[in-house]
Amino acid sequence: MPAPDPHGITIEERPQGWGVLVETFMLSGRTQRMARAKCILRNLAANGWACRWCGGPVPEFRRADARYCGEGCRKRAARSRRKAEARASFPDADARGMG
Ligand SMILES: [Zn+2]
Repeated sequence: MPAPDPHGITIEERPQGWGVLVETFMLSGRTQRMARAKCILRNLAANGWACRWCGGPVPEFRRADARYCGEGCRKRAARSRRKAEARASFPDADARGMG
């Protein structure tokens, strides 16, 4: 199965909503692209596809399931999540200066 082509999909922000254009002249990739476009639209409808870390817009060329606008936000979010988990495991770590 060929990987989905990120350049086969165009996303537009319109006054009345979001538009996702799918290039379908290549019949072989059509089903995958339609599925991907639906996934993208679902994300847009859910939160306007804002970065979960900084709230900025997630670039349309990123994967359909991308939750962050870039590697920096993804890493910062992952790091803070790990920190939160560590604190949950060791509730008194901060008090002992181990945070
Ligand atoms: Zn971000």
